[in-house]
Amino acid sequence: MPAQKVTKLSILGSTGSIGQNTLTVVDQFPDCYQIEALAGGTNIQLLNQQIQKFHPKCVCVLDEQHAEQLKKIVQNPVEIIYGSSGYEQIASYSSTDMVVSAIVGAAGLNPTIAAIRSGKDVALANKETLVMAGEIVMREIKENNVRLLPVDSEHSAIFQCLEGHQQEDLSQILLTASGGPFRNREISTFKTILPKDALNHPTWNMGQKITIDSATLMNKGLEVIEAHFLFHVPATDIQVIVHPQSIVHSMVAYHDGSIIAQLGIPDMKGAIAYALSYPNRLTLKQPIPNFFEIQSLEFYEPDLNKFPCLSLAYEACRQGKTYPTVLNAANEIAVDAFLNHQIGFMDIPKWIEKALTHHVPENGMDLGCINDADQWSRNVVKQWIRTNA
Ligand code: NAD
Ligand code: MG
Repeated sequence: MPAQKVTKLSILGSTGSIGQNTLTVVDQFPDCYQIEALAGGTNIQLLNQQIQKFHPKCVCVLDEQHAEQLKKIVQNPVEIIYGSSGYEQIASYSSTDMVVSAIVGAAGLNPTIAAIRSGKDVALANKETLVMAGEIVMREIKENNVRLLPVDSEHSAIFQCLEGHQQEDLSQILLTASGGPFRNREISTFKTILPKDALNHPTWNMGQKITIDSATLMNKGLEVIEAHFLFHVPATDIQVIVHPQSIVHSMVAYHDGSIIAQLGIPDMKGAIAYALSYPNRLTLKQPIPNFFEIQSLEFYEPDLNKFPCLSLAYEACRQGKTYPTVLNAANEIAVDAFLNHQIGFMDIPKWIEKALTHHVPENGMDLGCINDADQWSRNVVKQWIRTNA
């Protein structure tokens, strides 16, 4: 039998929750994966540990100051670069086969595009990339003949449920949501929600931004848009179902009334491993859910009065053009302001809605338009928050 080819990886966002989980998977399969390059932000100590363990050839950090700090402590021979051009270099690193895109937020877009344009397969966790520029990203994937493998657990589930089926037989995507920490909380008390309450997610352990997005259900809204672009399905055929146990990771319904679901414990390593190994499966040895202990799986309709972010995302998806870009940027600014105690929990959808209402999209649809819409949305929302306009 020929020796299995080693897949060479670049990880964007290696110090984050997805990045660390990816390295845990890689560590389990040293004969299958090799780390070529890593990119983090400002967590120099953790990057140094990752360098010692995985021996990347090149590492990128946020800025020059952090690059200097890393150079002082690092003992391995490694090239250290920084800034936006550095992230793009990591994404297009010549010996890399696959890029794990796991930076949080809009900062992930340009490196992901760089990866695609340099012919790399992409394992995509950074959903904001697809929300901001789904049409462009999907076009680039096709033109460059590379693979886009979803890491988001719901999209990995849908991807798995679609395997072996025809697109024209698909009738609906059933996207599950945990419902977040405020599923059962009275809406009248939402005014007093603090960042620490919203950061306390019941089933998933993730980075700060996505945890707040899960509490507002914007995460599910972003995922509706992500699924729309990834699977070429209109938002009207994507139904969100609240499923507090997070065991059913999502489902696909076919025209004959059959529904195929993908299940597993709520742990991102399963989805990460599938993206890395597709179409094969790694012997990850994840425990399977204990159904006798769980006993019941529940399903509810999302409460759009409590979670208006979900409706805003559906509406932005329906409007298309640069509305999803504006939604995403406004959300990033509002979440940041909430985490910094500048605005309340229910102000998040308020400012996003205002940005969507005031947005006048340009006619074209290229990266320049995306960038303009993103910057406009960030600027106006920052200004509205500052002046409470
Ligand atoms: P995180 O906050 O834990 O990690 C983010 C990573 O990005 C870190 O390595 C950080 O250093 C880096 N980073 C942050 N800002 C940066 C910038 N401006 N420039 C370059 N690097 C920067 O986030 P996470 O939870 O790992 O999520 C990463 C992405 O994956 C997000 O888009 C999120 O929506 C998506 N995702 C996460 C999960 C999860 O379970 N955590 C699940 C599905 C999808
Ligand atoms: Mg998800």
